[in-house]
Amino acid sequence: MGRRLLLLGPPGAGKGTQAERIARALGIPHISTGVMLRDHVERGTELGNEAQSIMEAGDLVPDDIVVAMVAERIAEEDAACGYVLDGFPRNAPQAEALSAAAGDDAIEVAIYLDVPEDELVARLMGRGRADDTEQAVRNRLSIYQEQTAPLIDRYDTAGALARVDGVGAMDDVFARVTLTLSQ
Ligand code: AMP
Repeated sequence: MGRRLLLLGPPGAGKGTQAERIARALGIPHISTGVMLRDHVERGTELGNEAQSIMEAGDLVPDDIVVAMVAERIAEEDAACGYVLDGFPRNAPQAEALSAAAGDDAIEVAIYLDVPEDELVARLMGRGRADDTEQAVRNRLSIYQEQTAPLIDRYDTAGALARVDGVGAMDDVFARVTLTLSQ
């Protein structure tokens, strides 16, 4: 049976890296809304053109857009045996939409990568992505605190939360994630 996982945590916590490694290890797709949106921007699609300035400012792309993207993606054949969501859901309405699309207890484990804020700013400023300007970084962190962090409690209450210390080398963090998933 496949596994349905999601990565929660602030921008710069290493969700993308860990999600990719988990997906490879388990042979399930890595579904990142950030990667999908950046791909639209690069290809200059209508959706990409709409999302570009929003992303550069560090704001959230409208829920209906990302929800439709994820709903379509998890309905694809390769996702029937599980998936790792990364960067979604980012607020309560998106979490509701995920429950509606995949079922209330669809998410087996929500891995919360815990990294303190000082460390995040340093990591984000060193990444050099188009939306990693200081102002956009600050905006993304404050949106995270207001809208995404409350989801930690939501998955905890649902009995699905696994807290993982996200500080340290990528390999060490991955070892912690692997240990958590094996428990
Ligand atoms: P990420 O790669 O997850 O850091 O996402 C980069 C940017 O894409 C975010 O700052 C948002 O502008 C947008 N984005 C990614 N995922 C979502 C989402 N679930 N809801 C809204 N916007 C998103």
